[in-house]
Amino acid sequence: MVDFALSKREQELFDTAMEFSKKWIVPYARELEEADEFPWGLAQKAYDAGLMNSHVPKKYGGPEHSMVEEALIGEAIGYGDGGIATTILANNLALTPLLLTATPEQMEKYIKPFATGKKPQFAAFSLTEREAGSDAAAVKTTATKDGDEWIINGRKCFSTNGHVAKYHTVFTTVDPTKGYKGMALHMIERELPGVKIVMLEDKLGQRASFQAEIEYKDVRIPGDCLFGEIGKGFKYAMQTLDRTRAAIAALGVGIAQRAVHEAAIFANYRKQFGKPIGAYQGINFMIAEMEARAMHARWATRYSAWLVDQGQRNTKESSCAKFFATDAAMQNTIDCIQIMGGYGYSKEYPAEQMMRGAKLTQIYEGTNQIQRWVAGQAVLKEVQVTELDTGFRLSFPGNDYPDPWGPREGDVPDFWGKGKSKNKQ
Ligand SMILES: Cc1cc2nc3c(=O)[nH]c(=O)nc-3n(C[C@H](O)[C@H](O)[C@H](O)COP(=O)(O)OP(=O)(O)OC[C@H]3O[C@@H](n4cnc5c(N)ncnc54)[C@H](O)[C@@H]3O)c2cc1C
Repeated sequence: MVDFALSKREQELFDTAMEFSKKWIVPYARELEEADEFPWGLAQKAYDAGLMNSHVPKKYGGPEHSMVEEALIGEAIGYGDGGIATTILANNLALTPLLLTATPEQMEKYIKPFATGKKPQFAAFSLTEREAGSDAAAVKTTATKDGDEWIINGRKCFSTNGHVAKYHTVFTTVDPTKGYKGMALHMIERELPGVKIVMLEDKLGQRASFQAEIEYKDVRIPGDCLFGEIGKGFKYAMQTLDRTRAAIAALGVGIAQRAVHEAAIFANYRKQFGKPIGAYQGINFMIAEMEARAMHARWATRYSAWLVDQGQRNTKESSCAKFFATDAAMQNTIDCIQIMGGYGYSKEYPAEQMMRGAKLTQIYEGTNQIQRWVAGQAVLKEVQVTELDTGFRLSFPGNDYPDPWGPREGDVPDFWGKGKSKNKQ
């Protein structure tokens, strides 16, 4: 039986995260954005509330949340502010490839401290390079074995939390001529000699999150900072993104839903021509469409997360959820501004900040063009040519007469089966 209800544990987690968001993020989002400082205080609160490092197993001190639970947290924190969500949830992205590959010794030594320390500790997912954006297999950061150690050389960009992270999760290549088959996964401590934060990006939105460009120059790391197998780095990156796309989709759901609420509150309150503007169908219909987008985005997102929890492949579903939910966030925030008129455009209200934040969700963790490409490829692969039903029947004498349902008993046109068509099967 299909069951859309959250379990008791899931509902409690969602309520806790939403309460946190409404108490600590919504009222301070503008201030946090304008402060231009890493929000350590808020990160501490989120860490203490158990909202970070979702997938660290209980055995190593973590909350061991399911993917659906991570999506619930993402939706609630995204509701508060996209930038804060990106900052405090980025560990989920950075730790996932490590959790997929770590040995028990690596878990104990490197992962456990993320969940057991008194203060939050950050990791930064470092895949993107200047020449390797959507084409992630084009990374040029090299890892060279030297005795028991590795030497890293290269440069990464757009690494979220890279400037404060204890470790960088770095996708490297042991042989750039081998393309994706040469890729590996290394973990690099930020404070090692040779690691340099070159700059922080100055961005349109999500300004309470920070992205670093990082240079690695002859950085020596211990042998046990290689995670998984050489040659499988690209696979680990893709496995990670299959999972975390649902989390970004969830963030989009949160932003999309917040836009509905802000627009509806305003539409009830604001009067023009003697009535609340929500009473006019032009506004009312917009709000209905916004709600429909948020609602559909939510279920597509939770379904794609649920597939991960069932141990099923979710590449197509998570790609669809990611582009649908983040496009919903974008459209809803634009509509929210429109409904609020001049006030939506003003910094006095949160709508414009939400819109700037929403834009990023269509770009990072795989642009929405790439998501459409991935989903489209998956659909094309699913359909064998022999099963392809275009709705056209060669036995029809007519010109391109579509018949999606096939012949109906007792309703057969006269001309059928009379051998008039040259195309008769
Ligand atoms: C604020 C922010 C935070 C980020 N955080 C991280 C992070 O923590 N770690 C990390 O590794 N990276 C991070 N990124 C990088 C992000 O994932 C990339 O920006 C993104 O994957 C796109 O790469 P690109 O910017 O190089 O664009 P490009 O790949 O150069 O793409 C440019 C345009 O071309 C389109 N395009 C490219 N290829 C195709 C194609 N085959 N078909 C159709 N269209 C195509 C894209 O959709 C896009 O519209 C972050 C980026 C930003 C802006």
